[in-house]
Amino acid sequence: MSEGTLRVVVVGAGAAGTLVSARLLDSAVRAGRGVAVDLVDPAPETGRGLAYATSDPRHLLNVTAGRMSALPHDEGDFVRWLSAREARPVDPGEYVPRARYGSYLADALNRSEAAGGSTATVRRRHDLVVAIERKPSAGTNNGVRLQLRGGGALDADAVVLALGNLAPSGEWIPAGLRESPHFVADPWRPGALANAPTDRDVLLVGTGLTMCDIALTLAVSGRTVHAVSRRGLLPLPHAADAPSRTTFQLGPVTGPLDLAQLKRGVRHRAALYRRHYGDWRPAVDELRPHISQVWQQLSFADRERFLTGELRNWEVHRHRLPPATDQALADAQRAGLLTVQAAEVVKARTSDDGCGVSVQLSNGWSATVGALINCTGTESRIQELADPLVRCLLDLGIAVPGPHGLGFDTAIDGRLTAAGARTAAPVWTLGQLRRGNLWETTAIPEIRVQAAELAARILGRKTAPALA
Ligand SMILES: Cc1cc2nc3c(=O)[nH]c(=O)nc-3n(C[C@H](O)[C@H](O)[C@H](O)COP(=O)(O)OP(=O)(O)OC[C@H]3O[C@@H](n4cnc5c(N)ncnc54)[C@H](O)[C@@H]3O)c2cc1C
Repeated sequence: MSEGTLRVVVVGAGAAGTLVSARLLDSAVRAGRGVAVDLVDPAPETGRGLAYATSDPRHLLNVTAGRMSALPHDEGDFVRWLSAREARPVDPGEYVPRARYGSYLADALNRSEAAGGSTATVRRRHDLVVAIERKPSAGTNNGVRLQLRGGGALDADAVVLALGNLAPSGEWIPAGLRESPHFVADPWRPGALANAPTDRDVLLVGTGLTMCDIALTLAVSGRTVHAVSRRGLLPLPHAADAPSRTTFQLGPVTGPLDLAQLKRGVRHRAALYRRHYGDWRPAVDELRPHISQVWQQLSFADRERFLTGELRNWEVHRHRLPPATDQALADAQRAGLLTVQAAEVVKARTSDDGCGVSVQLSNGWSATVGALINCTGTESRIQELADPLVRCLLDLGIAVPGPHGLGFDTAIDGRLTAAGARTAAPVWTLGQLRRGNLWETTAIPEIRVQAAELAARILGRKTAPALA
């Protein structure tokens, strides 16, 4: 490695880590500067992460292909890539299998790597980062050292944490259930559904997007998939013929807001759109680019009220299903392959014959199911996580929890806020871990912008003399 080459470790090779690695290489080439990226993730494939690792072709992107480009300045990149791969003109309005998107992201990094030559390089390491510490030396840009589960350490001038969707904590899980061989704590773990029996019903806890995907995989004749959540609300579908989002433009949102006023405003716009276009969805879609700003303009108390009272209602309107997925779920319900209930799990334990889980819900429903699967989604409350790297960051004061305990607290450029009066370490994050500060930060339209901005920010740094 030549002197002056910036050493960056990117932790996590899902969409966020892959995009930030690609943008680091591109920015280095443009700036004529050396960068050596170590991209660390135990997953065998780059770019898939949790969302795009599925091989089930029924698991579709919930955003149209035309909005999923890896490049914020070139909206057509994914559609062109896919059209070339599939040797057909792909419509930007299509909802395509998520597995395709994972391949696209891996290829996007390969393209940047090829253009980077020997000065802008990436090394993919299949390992888990379990600890991080500041390098003990004088100066303000000391860099950090990361410990790998497989042994060994990596020194870096800058680190990007792209840890993404962290495993659900499952606070609802009754005592003793976790130990049951028929309980699936995280349905996205590779091979998690392999042992779900085909001849017995299953119960999915949670009725959001994860449940919809898992139900589509498991709802086959011979068994019924039962889904339950407190409100029993399923995500609403996208419109079959989505109106052009450019038709709808909300002006900048200025000044302090209150939640009640915001709700009135959205309802008013929804009624307006329904009257003029027969559809409420543009009222949600036009707000989307402004959500981070709106989030910051709400008072702490209003944000807390939103999290405890409005969240689920907002999510079913904001995180919508592709029309084909909605149709498939409706068909499964009609055929008796899927039921949805509004209730809570009161009791759940391994059944007396040891072949399943005996479960009782708060509405009186009870059954013995072949598997009980936690579909409550991923965990953003950072203090709830047992993840060793997260614990280490908090214990050493390199990071502090974000507002409302969601993710880490970050500066405007994504750099972690250190505890107390400590100097911030050269550690940045993006995506899901910025939820407390930004709220709307988990999907590709936001992540690709953050990745490009972060890469430019990090490339502007000097290497640490002590490490060069
Ligand atoms: C089921 C599902 C479907 C989705 N569909 C869409 C969609 O259609 N469109 C859209 O825009 N968004 C979608 N999203 C949102 C999605 O979260 C983002 O698009 C994107 O996948 C987030 O990527 P990420 O890299 O931040 O997180 P992840 O995909 O969770 O990747 C994080 C990676 O970090 C690794 N990691 C974690 N800790 C460590 C460690 N200590 N050391 C090393 N590696 C580590 C993990 O192994 C993982 O590979 C979906 C999300 C889910 C859960």
